Amino acid sequence: MTAEIISGTEIRKEILAEIKQEVEEMKEKVGKVPGLVTILVGKSPASVSYVTLKVKTALSVGFNEIQDDQPEDISEADLLALIDKYNNDENIHGILVQLPLPKHIDDKKVLNAINPDKDVDAFHPVNVGRLMIGGDEVRFLPCTPAGIQEMIVRSGTETSGAEVVVVGRSNIVGKPIAMMMAQKGVGANSTVTIVHTRTKDLAAHCKRADILIVAAGVPDLVKPEWIKPGATVIDVGVNRVGMNEATGKAILKGDVDYDRAKEIAGKITPVPGGVGPMTIAMLMKNTLTSAKKTLGLE
Ligand code: NAD
Repeated sequence: MTAEIISGTEIRKEILAEIKQEVEEMKEKVGKVPGLVTILVGKSPASVSYVTLKVKTALSVGFNEIQDDQPEDISEADLLALIDKYNNDENIHGILVQLPLPKHIDDKKVLNAINPDKDVDAFHPVNVGRLMIGGDEVRFLPCTPAGIQEMIVRSGTETSGAEVVVVGRSNIVGKPIAMMMAQKGVGANSTVTIVHTRTKDLAAHCKRADILIVAAGVPDLVKPEWIKPGATVIDVGVNRVGMNEATGKAILKGDVDYDRAKEIAGKITPVPGGVGPMTIAMLMKNTLTSAKKTLGLE
């Protein structure tokens, strides 16, 4: 059996089209559109390319997007003042600060200064706490875990009562997705196990999984014989394993031995083209949610 491929590229297209439609309806109804500000400090090529993609995507769905570039030597106090300005701007519904920040600025202090109700990355401790409580408390879900859950739901995978095994316990992927899958609700209600570097028998846990979510950052960590036949496999890992001489682009590999795993799994995400493209789509969804809540449309 060859697994059904869950394409993040295709699901992202669907989500962005839905967001665009909602933005048009919002404009008609209340004469406003979601406002997103992206703050980039300095000119690191990787950060510039991430921000450019976020800005392009925000504009493509009809948001009011402000790209606020700041010099590398901006002081911490000035950056905090800038965040305060956007916290108090009623036309801004989402604030994004591109990381990493220069060494003289405390990342944590800056991220914690964002109004949690505009923290569309959902990294603020208030949003982490809201995720833990679940239900109506949740305003935003962190973007990569939200993308993973969306892929599971849209691929028609049953989550209620399913054995979910999450490989990795990071704050941005492993821990939040594990909590989200264990909560009550649609796309959740699962029985969740988190495994990590100190786990005694990784293979035995993975073999039990109806849904296996792998976020370790180790190429080909998960072997095909660790996969339960028919399971849904979500590979979050993005590992640079070499360089394509012809294109000059990095060769990317996931944490799962994809070529062999797809002969055993029921559904599987590829790398690239799987979880990766979902993150920005969920960022846009969070910004739309924020605008809807602020404008009393939800
Ligand atoms: P991290 O390094 O913060 O955490 C990795 C986790 O995996 C740790 O908790 C560690 O205990 C566990 N782990 C590592 N090696 C292991 C092993 N051999 N056995 C068992 N557990 C092991 O990484 P992260 O930020 O969670 O990211 C994980 C991967 O996902 C990376 O490849 C990263 O590039 C990728 N990622 C992709 C996206 C995206 O596509 N949008 C977003 C975030 C992260």
